[in-house]
Amino acid sequence: MILIVVCYWALILQLHVSAIPLNLNGVPTLEVKLSQTDNTLIRARVRNTGKEDVTFVHLNFFRDPAPVQKVDIYRGSMVPLRGIRQHFRLDGLTPEVLTTLHAGEIFEDEFDLAETSDLGHGGLFTLRSSGSVSLVNNGAVSGYLPYFSEELTIQVNGTRAFQGPKTMSPLNWHTKETCTDSQRTSILGEALGNVVSLANAAANAAQSGSADKFVEYFKTDDAKTRSIVASRLLAVAKEADSRDSGATTYYCSDVLGFCESNVLAYTLPSQNIIANCDIWYSYLPDLATGCHNQDRATTALHEFTHAPGVYSPGTQDLGYGYSAIEALNSSQAVLNADTYALYANGMSSLVPNGTCHVQEISKNRLIEPAIYLGC
Ligand SMILES: [Zn+2]
Repeated sequence: MILIVVCYWALILQLHVSAIPLNLNGVPTLEVKLSQTDNTLIRARVRNTGKEDVTFVHLNFFRDPAPVQKVDIYRGSMVPLRGIRQHFRLDGLTPEVLTTLHAGEIFEDEFDLAETSDLGHGGLFTLRSSGSVSLVNNGAVSGYLPYFSEELTIQVNGTRAFQGPKTMSPLNWHTKETCTDSQRTSILGEALGNVVSLANAAANAAQSGSADKFVEYFKTDDAKTRSIVASRLLAVAKEADSRDSGATTYYCSDVLGFCESNVLAYTLPSQNIIANCDIWYSYLPDLATGCHNQDRATTALHEFTHAPGVYSPGTQDLGYGYSAIEALNSSQAVLNADTYALYANGMSSLVPNGTCHVQEISKNRLIEPAIYLGC
């Protein structure tokens, strides 16, 4: 892993993300209807199918102005996407990243696929969108809400797509700082040291620790799954421990200019690039002081798992926060970044209050079954 303290440009971004249906369990959802308005221009209509109003984070979702994945695109196999995965704070969320939808209400978002994907070959493409958004109550994440769409097949004029806007073009990237701040370098270095400790401890737990705890996070005690989880965590520890080499480049500042408000850090998986935002330093503690709380170490660990150069395939963001990861099945859990971060936190003796206990989780989480769960 290379810790970058100067800015450097020679990057091409391609983000590979797979669509994996969530286990909905009959909970209310956001229903997404996709339509083609012009060549690569897509309109999404998002409807609250529940009986209550909901407020959720729209980062990494429709309405997000950043180059994020809003739909999966298939042409035989999945079309490589260019874009970022944003990691946001779980409390103190400010209104500009929140959307409120009344029961039955619809909002629309129109976006250009050509901004984040290369559709220059043209032809038929199939689109689909699924995942979950984080529900918010009084500025804090309180649960999750699944969303899904039916498939939409579109015909694309490749020449026009090629000539369309390309947000992720290197010409559009811009630098803001060179990270000469020695304090930031020191803080990041300490966090990476904690990542090594947390990831090694979690890997050990995955290999030979409590079966009940492993099942709590990964939904199976299967030996193969335990081996995969342990291998990824060991790879993360190794990467965080290698400061002058390795697969990833870890920028200590927002070198690409993609930090929105409330965003802690982001990853560009296809280039194995991770970048911290300002609030990664100002908002997060070195290590969490309680069960499943955010901190610098597990946030960095989360980002490392996104990078396929660390362990392939890179993880996705199928569930964010403890309540969301509870809804995933085992095959989803092993591909979900936050599951690793929360497992590392939950198993860590470095957390001052000790490892998370079932009783502690249960007493804190229940507001409404299946949806409003939060540790
Ligand atoms: Zn993520």
